[in-house]
Amino acid sequence: MSSILVFVESADGRIKKSSLEAIAFAHAMGGEVTAIAFGNEVSQDELSGLGNFGATKVLHINDEKLNQGVIQAYASGIAQAMEKIGADVLVLANSSLGNPVSARVAIKMDASLVSNVTELPSTDGGFSVKRSIYTGKAFANVELTKAKKILAIRKNAAEVKELGGSANVEVFSANFNDADFSAKITSTEKATGDILLPEAEIVVSGGRGLKGSENWGMIEELAKELGAATGCSKPVSDMGWRPHHEHVGQTGVKVSPQLYIAIGISGAIQHLAGVNSSKNIVVINKDPEAPFFKAADYGIVGDAFEVIPKLTEAIKAAK
Ligand SMILES: Cc1cc2nc3c(=O)[nH]c(=O)nc-3n(C[C@H](O)[C@H](O)[C@H](O)COP(=O)(O)OP(=O)(O)OC[C@H]3O[C@@H](n4cnc5c(N)ncnc54)[C@H](O)[C@@H]3O)c2cc1C
Repeated sequence: MSSILVFVESADGRIKKSSLEAIAFAHAMGGEVTAIAFGNEVSQDELSGLGNFGATKVLHINDEKLNQGVIQAYASGIAQAMEKIGADVLVLANSSLGNPVSARVAIKMDASLVSNVTELPSTDGGFSVKRSIYTGKAFANVELTKAKKILAIRKNAAEVKELGGSANVEVFSANFNDADFSAKITSTEKATGDILLPEAEIVVSGGRGLKGSENWGMIEELAKELGAATGCSKPVSDMGWRPHHEHVGQTGVKVSPQLYIAIGISGAIQHLAGVNSSKNIVVINKDPEAPFFKAADYGIVGDAFEVIPKLTEAIKAAK
């Protein structure tokens, strides 16, 4: 593997963890890893810090117009960067931004594209990767046949390790045209909460078993003690107990935390579709027959209104 480009995403001036995973994944593939970053909100230190995770160089398109996910322009910039460094492979996060960007780069570069990649490619007699399909219930092995290849990796597909070192940051001037800015973001609405749900390492999620919005204080307190984001099942957000951006599942946010705690959630297949790439799942439910227990690593059969306060107290005491 000669040269790999990694598209890195940022939020609030920090590189997202999913992009650090993309760099770790590219580094584990071997070869020289170059990252590409857009906008002027990320500091030079943050960018050179990508060397700690396996990038040797960072191409920075340092333009204020590119601060907010400008999909067409990002795709143009990435295609030009791939040409410049002679990259045969692009690695990026399988995210709401990464997916539309990767599709456009695939068209521009006539590349083979695979999303939801879960493991490093096998290059024995070709180039094939394993991807997750049917919302995590099965895997497919896919052969990539074009000279240029794009891998959109699923969260937790690579372990982020600190390797030491720093990357050279170079300003990269890409040529953009009007078509690259034909779709404009006119306003954005930020989700509330300190920790973004799709990026969270720990998620505490509540379902209809919590009976009403007035009972969410104990969920928030537990989440605060754990440094977790809060989530919920679909009926909970449909009933307005919680905001829609907290709804986890097939039709909501897909999460891949290290720890997902499901409280008073039955474990319907549509909910599981959003959580089944979590590293560890803990289920708290008063019904021992609740389907969620089948997907759980650990389970507590009990009434949430008794278990949660005790759990929160125990975590406080352990601190
Ligand atoms: C097309 C489609 C898409 C959907 N998409 C999604 C989706 O993205 N996300 C999603 O979540 N759902 C989705 N659903 C809905 C899904 O099928 C379930 O109806 C929903 O997940 C159930 O939510 P729940 O587990 O909170 O509620 P319930 O099914 O009512 O379960 C409540 C659970 O709480 C437990 N409980 C009750 N009281 C207590 C207590 N005191 N202590 C502890 N446990 C208690 C009960 O034993 C039960 O297991 C979708 C459905 C359809 C048809």
